[in-house]
Amino acid sequence: MNIIDAHVHLSRIASFQQTADELSLVDYTADGLSKEFAANGVVLGIGMGVNETAEGGFPDRHAANPMTLNLEDKLPNFLLECTGINPYLLESGGQAELDRIEKRLSLDSTAGIKLYAGYYHFYVYDKIYGPIYELAKQYNLPVVIHTGDTYSKDGLIKYSHPLTVDELAVSHRDINFVLCHLGDPWVMDAAEVVRKNPNVYADLSGLQVGDGPFFQRFVTEPLFMDHFRRALIYADHYDKILFGTDWPLAPVEIYIRFVEALVPESFYSSVFYENALNVFPKARKRLEG
Ligand SMILES: [Zn+2]
Repeated sequence: MNIIDAHVHLSRIASFQQTADELSLVDYTADGLSKEFAANGVVLGIGMGVNETAEGGFPDRHAANPMTLNLEDKLPNFLLECTGINPYLLESGGQAELDRIEKRLSLDSTAGIKLYAGYYHFYVYDKIYGPIYELAKQYNLPVVIHTGDTYSKDGLIKYSHPLTVDELAVSHRDINFVLCHLGDPWVMDAAEVVRKNPNVYADLSGLQVGDGPFFQRFVTEPLFMDHFRRALIYADHYDKILFGTDWPLAPVEIYIRFVEALVPESFYSSVFYENALNVFPKARKRLEG
C-alpha cells in the first residue's frame, strides 16, 4: 500500500527533539524519517513549518514568517511543506511580510499553509489572517489548522476548538481546510464540522504520543479507540479523512497500525493516500507529474 503521511515535522523545536529522545524514541533527522518512510511504503510526507527563535520558545511570537522546515539545510525530496504563519508579525510587518510569505507559497515544494490556532492567540476567522486566505485562494493552497489540545501549556485552547473553523469554512467556500488531530479531544465537534462543510477535511495525526509499548496500552483500550471511531462513523466522510503521524511524536509504523485499527479496511486507500492528493494539488503534481 502506498501511503502519504499528511502531517510530519522537521523543524528545530526543542520540545520535538525531547519527545523523540524520551517518548517516541525515533531518530529525529531527515535520514531517520527517510528510513521510516521507506520501511513502511510512505512515498511522500507533508511537513508543517514551525520555528522558534530560542530553544524551548515554541509557540514563539517572534518567529519570522514564513515558518519553514529548518532542521536540515534543505527540504528533503520526500517532503512538501505547509508554510507556517506567525500572526503576531503580520500586523507589524505590513506588505514586506506578506511578500516574503507569498514567495514561499509560490514554490513547487509548498503544498499548503499551516496555522497554529491555540498556540497563537487569535481565532482563525480573525481579520489578521484575511491576507493569508487571499494568498491561499490565489495559489490554490489548502489551509491546515491546528485544532484541539495544544502541545504546550502556553496555548489557549479556546482558539483551537474545531467549531471555530465552521465560521471560516462558511465564509471561504473556495478554500479547503484541514482540521489537524480531528480536533481531539473535541472529536465529535470536529466530525460535525467535516460532515457539514464540503470544504473541511481532517487529519488523524497526533492522537497519541509515544513509542510502541505505550501505544499498545491504548490500542487495546476500547474506550480510547471508540472515542475516535464514534466521530469517524458520525462524520461518515472517509473521503475527507487523512492519515498523518505528527512524527516525531510517534514512530511511523506504530502509527500506521493504530490508524488501520480505526478505519474500515475498504477505506484504506482513500485515507492513507488518495484524499491527500485531493487536498494538496502539489502532492498530486509531485507524485503523478
Ligand atoms: Zn503537528
